[in-house]
Amino acid sequence: MSITQRCKQLFLSDALAFLAAIAAGSMIFITNSYLDLDIAPTLFYITLVFMSANIFSVPVFLTVALSCIAMLSASFVVEEGYRDHRLIVGFVRCLIALTTITLLALRSKRATDTLRRKEALFLGAQKLSHTGSIGFTFDDKETVWWSDETTRIFEYPMDVTPTATMIRARTHPEDLSIVESVFEQAARKENLIEVEHRLLMPDGRIKHVQMIANPLSNQGGRLEYVGALMDVTASRQSEEALFHSQAKLAHVTRVTSMGELAASIAHEINQPLAAVITSGESCKRWINRPEPNLEEARRSLDRIIQNSTRASKVIACIRALSRQSDVQRKAEVFDEIVNDSLTLMQHDTANHQVRPNVHLGAAGAYVKGDRVQLQQVIINLIINACQAMTNVHDRARTLRIHTSVQDHEVVLEVADTGTGIAEDILPSLFDPFFTTKHNGLGMGLSICRSIIEFHGGRIWVSSTVGVGTQFLFAIPLTALRHDQ
Ligand code: ADP
Repeated sequence: MSITQRCKQLFLSDALAFLAAIAAGSMIFITNSYLDLDIAPTLFYITLVFMSANIFSVPVFLTVALSCIAMLSASFVVEEGYRDHRLIVGFVRCLIALTTITLLALRSKRATDTLRRKEALFLGAQKLSHTGSIGFTFDDKETVWWSDETTRIFEYPMDVTPTATMIRARTHPEDLSIVESVFEQAARKENLIEVEHRLLMPDGRIKHVQMIANPLSNQGGRLEYVGALMDVTASRQSEEALFHSQAKLAHVTRVTSMGELAASIAHEINQPLAAVITSGESCKRWINRPEPNLEEARRSLDRIIQNSTRASKVIACIRALSRQSDVQRKAEVFDEIVNDSLTLMQHDTANHQVRPNVHLGAAGAYVKGDRVQLQQVIINLIINACQAMTNVHDRARTLRIHTSVQDHEVVLEVADTGTGIAEDILPSLFDPFFTTKHNGLGMGLSICRSIIEFHGGRIWVSSTVGVGTQFLFAIPLTALRHDQ
């Protein structure tokens, strides 16, 4: 129904009730004035005042109440009651009663109107924030009650009586256990119930809802839970979209750093290939001898296999880095990830005349994460460190790579003896597009931080201008196995 139709209907019902009240008042007046019946008209006026307080707006109600007082006074005058002392006393009493009732009804009407306005505001706020109310008891797994907005979130018709079965019917099958856990927590009388789960609508749409409820004793002393149910679909969808665009951006920067690494990569593959060729030729020579030396030939073949394996490992690393794969979270040996990144960076560090000081002290430490993403972080930190040392000529260019396990976390330190970072720009370092390089993109550290935070960790930096910079990150340790 449209708002105009609803207004018309309200106006009609108001007008009808007003006419009915006028008719009732006139009847009482006629009954009292022309029929000589011993009834107490004041009682009718009081009923009329109460009725109109419930039905009309304040001005109409006041008009009705004043009309009643006027009619009561008119009938007193018409009947010439002022001639009889007893009738005067009776009239004054009735007048006081009617006036008092009118004032009381007016007060209660104002309170009711305020309550209605508050309710309307509350319902409006629920609608705007997509948050409904919901209530359930701890001992009854079926009875629930909820507000209009909750009905809208579950997409049920407004006139249905809510039940827990209706909630279950809309819950995503994979999240049914979460909904059951709510009733279990209520049965345990827990102080705060907080869950988030998905809804599966009849047309296949998925919604995300968050519910938070607290226990409350009702009038019968029975414990019931009252809470709020919020539709958080929009924010979950934007989080997912943000995550996907970050993954795409991470891929772009990976490919960009691959360009920077081209020389390093070429060297890493060329070296084993040259060794393969040399070993292949000497193998041929050992076999072509008048008396073939099979032992030497076998050794040459072993070297061929070893070097081919190394080359294919480097290629596998590069392919993994350049592939736009979905993020995977697997148990990985942390030191192996660092080692693989160093393999790719070996030539780059040599090119910058940087002396690596590597200490892998997190032996057997497992982390749960995406190998490629973590490699991207380490490679980015190493590239930055090497670039920061390009203009250092007065001291050794040292790149310190240390891993360790500290308080259930795996920590990596990448420290250089480069230019250092001025204190005032330290806070902006992880901001997207912050760069001090003329050809820099300024996305490297920002992506590093997203990746580390995605892994439940943190990344931080300390630096002294003219001495060097230390970047550290820590991610949760999932297992420590020394049998490796
Ligand atoms: P980009 O390398 O494209 O500038 P980053 O986000 O990787 O983007 O780095 C942002 C800025 O942080 C760099 O421009 C540089 O000023 C500073 N920075 C990062 N690492 C170091 C470091 N090891 N030493 C000195 N400055 C650094």
